[in-house]
Amino acid sequence: MEIIATILLVIGIVGLIAQALIGLCFFISCIWEKEKRASVFAGLQFLGMFIVLIVYLYLIGIGFVKTNLGLALLIAMYIFASLAAFLLMKKTAPNPKALKGTKGLIAGDVKRQDEREIVFARNRSLIPGSDQYKAFYREYPEYEAYDTKRRELGGPLGHPGTIDRPYEGPNVAATLASASIPMHLSTPNAFNPQPHPELKGKKFDLNPEEATERVKGYARNRGADLVGITEINPLWVYSNRGEIFHENWENWGKEIKVEHKYAIVFATEMSFEMVGTGPHSPTMIESMGNYAQGAYIATQLAHFIANLGYSATASHLRHYDSLMVPLAVDAGLGELGRLGYLITKELGPRVRLGAVSTDLPLIPDKPMDIGVEDFCWICKKCAVCCPSNSIPLEKDQTIVGGLLRWKLNAETCFEYWGKIGTDCNICMRVCPWSHARTFPHRIILELITKNRLARRLFSIMDDIFYGKKPKVKSIPKWAQFNAGIMD
Ligand code: SF4
Ligand code: SF4
Repeated sequence: MEIIATILLVIGIVGLIAQALIGLCFFISCIWEKEKRASVFAGLQFLGMFIVLIVYLYLIGIGFVKTNLGLALLIAMYIFASLAAFLLMKKTAPNPKALKGTKGLIAGDVKRQDEREIVFARNRSLIPGSDQYKAFYREYPEYEAYDTKRRELGGPLGHPGTIDRPYEGPNVAATLASASIPMHLSTPNAFNPQPHPELKGKKFDLNPEEATERVKGYARNRGADLVGITEINPLWVYSNRGEIFHENWENWGKEIKVEHKYAIVFATEMSFEMVGTGPHSPTMIESMGNYAQGAYIATQLAHFIANLGYSATASHLRHYDSLMVPLAVDAGLGELGRLGYLITKELGPRVRLGAVSTDLPLIPDKPMDIGVEDFCWICKKCAVCCPSNSIPLEKDQTIVGGLLRWKLNAETCFEYWGKIGTDCNICMRVCPWSHARTFPHRIILELITKNRLARRLFSIMDDIFYGKKPKVKSIPKWAQFNAGIMD
């Protein structure tokens, strides 16, 4: 009996020390994240755990824990702790829809998206008075009033940096430095390359396993943080060309053929620090920097595959053949979130996507279930924080265009971008999946990707620690638009 009591006491000490250390890690993590509110709560939490440890040691010291009452309380505490751990760590039933990728979202007739209809193409490519302008609004008159008004605000980012005026200048310069890179890489021989003459037309005979390893390794080596492969579902290929960047108007409205069987889809991480400044101008530097990096990776990967003797087309900011998010879902990079972005396990929605389509035989990845749909049902933080009310607050998704999803209002979101002169990114910043991947957040992530109860618990904890409307984070010195304005 004496030995059992001693073992129980030691387990208690080890458990409480481990708990206090995790609390301390979380406190340090919050300070590193520069989260004032979370640091205060994490500090209080650590203090509470530390006091419990001291009280426990004191009770051992005075012999209380070895009394009948003390032992009964100790056993009750173990039962409670074991039950809580079991309930939080048990793997709950998978989401069959998520495991099917985008096929799990199809709930009706889905038509291929016409690229001419997306807000960017309407804003950027339709020049008032041009033949394309007249042809488009003859076919889609419902867009004309909105588009005319939106054009008065300027291009996709309005007048860049408006929200930070009169201090936006250097940040706009940094943004535009990156924006020009995808433009340089969007000529046909850049996005759809020919093999290098040095290779004399050789076609390499690679088996799919080896080809997959080589293209994934190359993409990672070039800077991709996540890489997946999917067989292309033709539904996600645009039906007609709508974005024109090099005065090649003969392509406007042209049918986009589904030429390749596979897509290599990749994601690059957006800096936690820069996204944390959204909607201010540093977040737009980060978005454009990632688009430039995506164009660089996609172009090199397409050239690599062309040199292997296969056809390949790069998709990036200035040349998309397909919708990136559905391809990424099918390639097993993550799930579609309420905010309309892909949510990955590794980096949450803090990513930008690029892809290369090809006829090189590859091995596709499987879609993943990380519990995003279930988390988004309870969370809604992006919808609550969205300044233009563009993200639906209703719990359930609706069927839009044959797909079961939360329908982002692209028009109101885009109008807000035009007013503030950045791409906002508030929804990305506040999403609980966007936290820096510090040790405590990795533990939380492991729990919420597997367990429903953990999703509920940590959604509430996120509101407590970070607030229902998390604050903008401090801005790196080099990207400040007005020192001290955010304090
Ligand atoms: S980018 Fe901003 S305006 Fe657009 S949906 Fe996200 S939070 Fe709303
Ligand atoms: S903020 Fe919440 S509701 Fe919105 S996408 Fe992220 S997890 Fe889902």
